[in-house]
Amino acid sequence: MAASLGPLVGAIDQGTSSTRFLVFNAETAELLSHHQVELKQEFPREGWVEQDPMEILNSVYECVEKTCEKMNELNINIANIRAIGVTNQRETTVVWDKTTGEPLYNAIVWLDLRTQSTVERLLKRIPGKNKTFSKFKTGLPLSTYFSAVKLRWLLDNVEEIKKAVEDGRALFGTIDSWLIWSLTGGKNGGIHCTDVTNASRTMLFNIHSLEWDPDLCKFFDIPMEILPTVRSSSEIYGVMKICPSRDSGALTGVPISGCLGDQHAALVGQMCFKDGQAKNTYGTGCFLLCNTGQKSVFSEHGLITTIAYKMGRDNPAFYALEGSVAIAGAVVRWLRDNLGIAKTSEEVEKLAEDVGTSYGCYFVPAFSGLYAPYWEPSARGIICGLTQFTNKNHIAFAALEAVCFQTREILDAMNKDCGIPLSQLQVDGGMTNNRILMQLQSDILCIPVVKPSMTETTALGAAMAAGAAKGIEVWSLDPGDLTAVTCERFEPQINPEESEYRYARWKKAVMKSMGWES
Ligand code: ADP
Repeated sequence: MAASLGPLVGAIDQGTSSTRFLVFNAETAELLSHHQVELKQEFPREGWVEQDPMEILNSVYECVEKTCEKMNELNINIANIRAIGVTNQRETTVVWDKTTGEPLYNAIVWLDLRTQSTVERLLKRIPGKNKTFSKFKTGLPLSTYFSAVKLRWLLDNVEEIKKAVEDGRALFGTIDSWLIWSLTGGKNGGIHCTDVTNASRTMLFNIHSLEWDPDLCKFFDIPMEILPTVRSSSEIYGVMKICPSRDSGALTGVPISGCLGDQHAALVGQMCFKDGQAKNTYGTGCFLLCNTGQKSVFSEHGLITTIAYKMGRDNPAFYALEGSVAIAGAVVRWLRDNLGIAKTSEEVEKLAEDVGTSYGCYFVPAFSGLYAPYWEPSARGIICGLTQFTNKNHIAFAALEAVCFQTREILDAMNKDCGIPLSQLQVDGGMTNNRILMQLQSDILCIPVVKPSMTETTALGAAMAAGAAKGIEVWSLDPGDLTAVTCERFEPQINPEESEYRYARWKKAVMKSMGWES
C-alpha cells in the first residue's frame, strides 16, 4: 500500500536549459521526488535563439510521467497531489493556433537578439529616442529582451501568424500561458491565461492598474484579442486534462493553481516576503530581485521594476527591483558546446579549480548584448588580457569570474537604489552547485553568500503559490510555519583591495565590449 504523507503539491519548472517536475510535501516543504529533462536550444542565425514549443510541452509530460513512476516506486501516493504550480522562463514568446493546438512558429527565447532593428525602428518614434519612455508604466526599458518586440517581429515576419490573427485563430502567450492552455485541454477548451508576474515582462502591461495597456498595445501595434487573461499568481486557473497522445493521466483533474515567472518564484521560495529581502538566482542568466513591498520603486541605476507576486485575487501586488544579467550558466554551456573544452558543466568547474586564477584574463560574455545596468544591445562578447601563458583553465576561471563581476555590478546598483546595502546574498539556481563560483562570488562582493541546502527554490515558490490558493489551502505562506531552512555560507577570503583591483579591470573589459555591433 502507498504511504500516506498528507497533502502534496507538484511544480512544473520550465527553464531555458531544462524542464523539471518536482513534488513537495506541503506540510514540511520537503522535496519528495522529481525528474528533469535537458532542452535543445536552436541558433538558426547569429543572435537568434529559438526553442520548439512542442518539445517544451512534451518535456513537461515526460517529467510528470517519470516523477509519478518514481513516486510509485517510493510507495508515495500520487493521489495526494492536491495542486500544481507552474514557473517558467520569462519573456519567451509563443504564438499558436487555437483550432489545431499547434504553435505557428518556434518560441523566440528571451535571449534572442533578432529584434535589435525592431527596437531601433520603434525608438525613432519616441521623442529623444528615450529607451525608458514607459518606465513608470511598465518598469522596463525598450529592449530586445521583452515579449512585445518579439511578438511584433512575429506579426511582421511570419505569414501564418498574420493570417491566423486575421482569421481570429491566433493566441499569444509566454511559456506559462502556452503550458497552462495546453495542459487544461488545449484546443478542447484550454484556459488562456497568464499571471501578473509574467505579464509584467511583456512591456504591454501596466504594473499599477494590473491590466494590459491599450496605449502600449497601440504603440507596438499588437491586437489585444490575442493576449491572455491576466490572473493573480495564486488561484485555480483550471484542472489538468488527459493528453490523448500520452500516458500522462496520473494527474488528471488536479488543479493548476500557482503561476509565477521563474525569478519571482525563486523570491517566494527563498521566503523573501519582507521589504528589502533579496535573492540572486544563477541559471542560464542571473537575476537579482529585491522585494520592495507594496510600493513600486523606480531605479536610477539601470535596474528594472517588476511585480514580485500577487498571492490571490483579493490580495495586493508586491513589487521588486530587478537586476537582470543575460548570460551566466549559458557561458558555461558555451564553453562546453561551442568550444568543447569540457564535456559537462561540472568539468568547467574542475578546469577553473585546477588553476584558481584567470591569470589576468577577462571574459565579458555579452553574447546577447548587455542587460542591467547597461542595456546595451550593441555589446558583444570579448576575451581580453590573453598572453602566451593563458590556457583553457584560465578561460574557464574567467568565465566563472564574469558571472560574479556581473552580479557585483547589479548589487552595486541595487545598493544605490535601495539606500541600505545588502549585508549578505541569498543565492539559488543550477549554477550554485559550483562551489568555486560561490566562493569567488563572496570574494568579489566582499560579503557572505548564503545557499540553502535545497536549491530548488524556484519550484518551491511555485508549489507554495499553488498550495496556498483559495480552495486548495494546504500550504501557509507564513515563513514561520516552515521547518528552518539549512544553509551553507561562503565567507570572503581575499582582501577588499584585491577584489577592487580585479573589479576595476573587469569594468575596463566591459567598456571594450560596448558598441561592437552598432
Ligand atoms: P535555467 O533555470 O535557466 O534552465 P538552471 O537553474 O537549471 O537554469 O541552471 C542551468 C545552468 O547552470 C546551465 O547553463 C549550466 O551550464 C549551469 N551549471 C549547472 N551546473 C554547473 C556547474 N557545476 N558549474 C557551472 N555551471 C553549471
